[in-house]
Amino acid sequence: MFGIYRKIITTGVLTEKFARKKPGQLALGLHSGDPELDAVGTQLKATIDRRFAGSLHIRQVDAGSCNGCELEIHALNNVYYDIERFGVHFVASPRHADVLLVTGPVSRHMEAALRRTYEATANPKWVIAVGDCGACGGEFGISYASCGAVANVIPVDAVVTGCPPTPLDLMRGILDLFSR
Ligand code: SF4
Repeated sequence: MFGIYRKIITTGVLTEKFARKKPGQLALGLHSGDPELDAVGTQLKATIDRRFAGSLHIRQVDAGSCNGCELEIHALNNVYYDIERFGVHFVASPRHADVLLVTGPVSRHMEAALRRTYEATANPKWVIAVGDCGACGGEFGISYASCGAVANVIPVDAVVTGCPPTPLDLMRGILDLFSR
């Protein structure tokens, strides 16, 4: 508990500065006014066009996170990141998904549900473990209530570390996985 408080105090506020669009920039499709976002997004779109005929579908699974990672994942769909313009779509069912984006640590309560979700996802499928908790159990580790890393429960193809990872980290993680 004290470890978490120490982390909150030492980490501080990480909110990104708002990059103002120039007049008329809203109409420019892939251009957001943030050069880093535009560069990663353009590469992501080209990769998805090449490997998935233009659209990649993701089912997000919260397997026991504190919801910090979910806030960053949700941000991918806001008007700033707007990841759908790059061909990435979040879906409600694993049966419609190419990728499972899983936050951890995997709680014992979610272990069976995560396995069933993995089995329900059609092949070929990929799993991305999100956050330090998804990578190794993070703050929560392995205990009577937690299985720890996502890889302890289902096969994992890529890991995006961070506590939490930023939306750009998540976009880079997807890009790295499919650029291999
Ligand atoms: S990595 Fe950090 S933000 Fe994500 S679930 Fe773990 S403690 Fe929460």
